[in-house]
Amino acid sequence: MSLVLKFGGSSVADAACVRRVAEIVTGAAARSPVVVLSAMGKTTDALFAAAQAAERGETEAALKALREVVAKHKQVCSELWQGELPVDLQQFIEALSTQIDMLLRGVALLRELSARSRDAIVSFGELLSSQIVAAFLHSRSVPSAWLDVRRVMRTDAGFGGAEPQTDEIATLARIELTPLMGPGRIVVTQGYIGSTKDGITTTLGRGGSDYSASLLGAAIGADEVQIWTDVEGILTADPRMVPEAMPILELSFREGAELAAFGARVLHPATIQPAVEANIPVTVRHTMRPLGKFSTITAKGGSGSARPATAIASRSPIQVITIESTRMLAQSGFLARIFEVFGRLGVSVDVVATAEVSVSLTVEANAPIEKIKRELDAFAHVSVASDRALVALVGERLKHTPGLAARVFGAISSINVEMISMGSNEINLSLVVERRDEASAVRMLHQALFGSAATK
Ligand code: ADP
Ligand code: ASP
Ligand code: MG
Repeated sequence: MSLVLKFGGSSVADAACVRRVAEIVTGAAARSPVVVLSAMGKTTDALFAAAQAAERGETEAALKALREVVAKHKQVCSELWQGELPVDLQQFIEALSTQIDMLLRGVALLRELSARSRDAIVSFGELLSSQIVAAFLHSRSVPSAWLDVRRVMRTDAGFGGAEPQTDEIATLARIELTPLMGPGRIVVTQGYIGSTKDGITTTLGRGGSDYSASLLGAAIGADEVQIWTDVEGILTADPRMVPEAMPILELSFREGAELAAFGARVLHPATIQPAVEANIPVTVRHTMRPLGKFSTITAKGGSGSARPATAIASRSPIQVITIESTRMLAQSGFLARIFEVFGRLGVSVDVVATAEVSVSLTVEANAPIEKIKRELDAFAHVSVASDRALVALVGERLKHTPGLAARVFGAISSINVEMISMGSNEINLSLVVERRDEASAVRMLHQALFGSAATK
């Protein structure tokens, strides 16, 4: 029996949060917990900013940003210990901040920031937060151990968004992590960061700590992965757009993965995959309301509600590329040629809609549009619409709901829908709208499908 608990940035943002985290993990001590921590609050953003300042050659600005990060952590520590912090922790913070200081100076001298250097700089956040939590547990005499996750989280060298090597992670977890675990004992480690086989620091991409948690959960065969954050689970929509959004108590893995992929920031898009493979339930909980509602994501999912959609997610900005064949009639192989171009350029396509001689597809805002156009221009007319948003209804019951399309389009009849696609897994109905209409589309759909007047 073992449990992974991951705490996000807002869950470790200040001294009160750290105390709360310590209470939650101590309460779970009997389940051999592994605690995966994000960096505190906005630390990762600040470290990215420091790295960018250094790249511009602004040494002073970069070092100032670093000093602020260190000062913020020391401030939290002095509140936690109400005076002198433990010597070991003090030494750890000094040694690590000297290293980051040197890295920033090097970047500033060269005015060159490689993805590899950036990963080394931003890894500071998780190393710091995890040391502080581990030291705090230790000073409360809670049996605990700190693990540098880079000993376990083996990745390729794709700096900035490295690919975890799951077989090696499982082997390394058996050697480095399992021996530290046991009932009554808490292992504290980092999310987001990893290392190559040569020991070079990598990261899994922004928001990657959720992914770290499920990877470690799968590696140790945990019986639950808990994602602790600042909402009571996965809600029926992003609460910043729809304040009345409600927690979803049970979801299927497919629904969780689809929502994450289509913009529900509460879970990193890759989080569900390792959990599916190892069939481990993932729960999403509110750190400040540990006894409140929460979501449970399992293979079976929920069966209680008869609502047509489980939740609404959205993502922006995205771009829509429309490709028309230059020949009069659809040529066989037209789609194959198009996708060969996207594949070769490493551009991922989210939603596709085809017509007789044209195909529309959506790509991220940062896709290399000029390159794509140059390649496609050889055999097609290409037009690009940017500043668009993808709005997705997700739910296992979508396909069993007659009249759903009429309800959806009735609800947003004042908004111009430019593209529609039912995902081939039949649990995702995606719409493309102009970005300025995104929030209203989500609100109107939420009102129609989850509002008090909505039929269940
Ligand atoms: P953490 O720092 O804990 O990883 P994140 O900020 O990454 O937290 O994710 C939590 C946030 O995700 C919430 O505060 C909320 O604003 C946002 N969010 C977007 N969509 C949803 C949704 N469907 N359900 C819950 N939260 C959502
Ligand atoms: N600290 C990292 C980030 O801000 C990873 C995470 O919080 O999940 O992106
Ligand atoms: Mg997150």
